Amino acid sequence: MSHTLDIAKINANATTQNGVLGAAVAETTPENSAEATPEATEAATKTTLPNLVGMPREALKTILSELGIADKAIKMRTAQIWHWLYIAGVTDYTEMRNVNKDLRQKLAENYSIERPEIVEEQISVDGTRKWLMRMPKLAGDAVGHEVECVYIPEQTRGTLCVSSQVGCTLSCTFCHTGTQRMVRNLTSQEIIAQIMVARDRIGNWPSMERVKDQNLPQTGRMISNIVYMGMGEPLYNYEHVKNAINIMADGDGIALSRRRITLSTSGVVNFIEKIGEETGCMLAISLHSVKDDVRDILVPINKKFNLETLLEACRNYPGVSNARRITFEYVMLKDINDSIDDAKQLVALLKGIPAKINLIPFNPWPGSEYECSDWEQIEKFAEVINRAGYASPIRTPRGRDIMAACGQLKSASKISKKVRAK
Ligand code: SF4
Repeated sequence: MSHTLDIAKINANATTQNGVLGAAVAETTPENSAEATPEATEAATKTTLPNLVGMPREALKTILSELGIADKAIKMRTAQIWHWLYIAGVTDYTEMRNVNKDLRQKLAENYSIERPEIVEEQISVDGTRKWLMRMPKLAGDAVGHEVECVYIPEQTRGTLCVSSQVGCTLSCTFCHTGTQRMVRNLTSQEIIAQIMVARDRIGNWPSMERVKDQNLPQTGRMISNIVYMGMGEPLYNYEHVKNAINIMADGDGIALSRRRITLSTSGVVNFIEKIGEETGCMLAISLHSVKDDVRDILVPINKKFNLETLLEACRNYPGVSNARRITFEYVMLKDINDSIDDAKQLVALLKGIPAKINLIPFNPWPGSEYECSDWEQIEKFAEVINRAGYASPIRTPRGRDIMAACGQLKSASKISKKVRAK
């Protein structure tokens, strides 16, 4: 299917309240971004201090203790810093007005609170925004790695789709990210950074004016939902993903309800119950087929954890109920998984699991070998599921023109030869 391209590549001199953003946005594309200008090369190869934003609360307390803060003051100082980072969104220690100068200086010498660089921002005709971000170089990185993050605004809510890995170890054959070799896991700081950048770009801090755009939510929270549906398999990056969820849900900071944070997994069964217990987040499963032989190809982790094992883990997911249903994602692939018989089997397979089924029209990407099911067939498929009593919305493709739709994300980051040889 072809689409009219109407991409606004933003690299204007728009500044945030911190005045740092416009200068950081470079006119590059995913294909050439890692080797663009000398400035970009320098930015990509510079190692930075560890970032305080996205560090678990307990880690922050330990840092303060190591910097000489008395035990009795640690709770109060942690609360102050937490406020400045997540409520005010500052990127400069001097703005932390109620933190004394000595502590601010010590923090600044050892920890960064800067955002990652935005390499490219694209805005779809439907208002979906996609950012390609270059993370600061960590120890072991040959360059600063790049990931994509997508914001999907609606009238009364906004969903941010975050990445958990640079690339992916799994090779789901319908997914563009699956063609990118796994580079490394993202840290909790790099996951939280995606939220901070999104808030910068849509003007979602108290000191900023909302960006005037009729496509952005007119009421309610501008980022009301977070979904781990970007690049990577989140359960293969368990600790960082867990820590990031707990920071997103911290009531004194970003304060998102855990019911509005959804982790989507291809089926890493041995971590499903654990993430439910330790975070209380909502669960989504990349299902895509009701037959093991077909799923073995579409979602190859099925060879390790087959459908029976996966669905058993779903039945045991902590807190699952009619009020907290599991979402099953089902990409509609012409003549592969879209028959009426498949729909009937899907209903039988999910029996007893409080579930909703998201039917996703396949979003093509360069080199993909599948076609999207015909619309008529998708509707017939949905009807079978609806009649069985399941909600089965057909997901409206968002951001297809900027390759931001489900399964289309990919960055140019590669694993360095040095690291690969280890
Ligand atoms: S669908 Fe998810 S797990 Fe599968 S290749 Fe894509 S990013 Fe990785």
